Amino acid sequence: MPRGVKLDLAKEPSLKEQIITIPAPKKLPAPKMFAPLRKKAGAAKIIGAAEMAGIVDELDGEPLGKKLARFAAADAPVLVAACFDEDPMTSAGQAVFRENPAQVLAGLNLAALACGAVSKKIAAASREEIRRAQKACTAVEFLTAGDRYPAAALLRRKFSGKGKAACLVGAQACLALAAAASRGLAQSETVVTVAGDGAARWVNCRVRIGTPLRDVLAAGNPLPETAAVVVGSSVNGRSVTDLSEPVTTATRCILAMKRLPRRAALPCVGCGRCERACPRGIIPWMILQQLESGSPDPFRLFNVERCIRCGACSVVCPSEIDLAAAVGRAIKIKEGRGDP
Ligand code: SF4
Ligand code: SF4
Repeated sequence: MPRGVKLDLAKEPSLKEQIITIPAPKKLPAPKMFAPLRKKAGAAKIIGAAEMAGIVDELDGEPLGKKLARFAAADAPVLVAACFDEDPMTSAGQAVFRENPAQVLAGLNLAALACGAVSKKIAAASREEIRRAQKACTAVEFLTAGDRYPAAALLRRKFSGKGKAACLVGAQACLALAAAASRGLAQSETVVTVAGDGAARWVNCRVRIGTPLRDVLAAGNPLPETAAVVVGSSVNGRSVTDLSEPVTTATRCILAMKRLPRRAALPCVGCGRCERACPRGIIPWMILQQLESGSPDPFRLFNVERCIRCGACSVVCPSEIDLAAAVGRAIKIKEGRGDP
């Protein structure tokens, strides 16, 4: 039985156009520059360049230099450039890879050198994306991310099933590393998808980090019926009310939504979908039962600490129970930080 959940993808509308550039607000400082790397720079220099450039991986918000040093300590890491977007409405990573596959590969090569990866791969959104990129990207293996959510966690799981540690780094972080090494350019911009049923135009925008969300959202021509703006993901993103909040490297998408997903919380019908969806081997319905008992036994909150908050369990639940939140509560209880 495949893990994860199959979601209806809606990426093509935002991939129809090329990435557009949103002018940077005047108050933001110019991007920093430093000395580019020499050819044949070693691991320490590459990690140093990632730190100097202030590169943050868009996949998880981890500073790239720290991440590469962590990967270097892993046993025989396989480095994978994640050139796909897990979220069904987001296509920023895919668009970046489409626009400049050679530079993404250049960054991946540097990252692989920095962490001593035994092999490197590009995980693309589909076979079609691989076909598009193959001419520009030689001497690298491709794989598809698969069509189930959450793709990154499922990819890691697939590798760990073969006894390998898959270390994922975002396409945008790879691109930024290539720019830091070759041009001495600090990371100052990111690509964000603007979409949602409240947006008349779905588009990928190149944005200076620090730009207010409002300026980027405007590129999507939000409709008057827009009731909520969600940042991060349509599955487990957060609703924002203050649109003066700045774009960060982790802002993969800004979604104008006519309504927030309904959470009616009907009783569990015992279908087991949440268990099958979870990429981390957690049994959310069982956790829920423990919480609903009123006196959960921390020793029966199995594996909750492994939760990556992907929200797949909540998405598949026919009773619309917010299982991800329940697992979050269980983590606190297990850690002695929360009440039942
Ligand atoms: S329990 Fe956590 S890791 Fe598993 S599907 Fe739910 S949110 Fe994702
Ligand atoms: S998906 Fe929802 S209804 Fe089905 S077992 Fe899990 S909690 Fe129960």
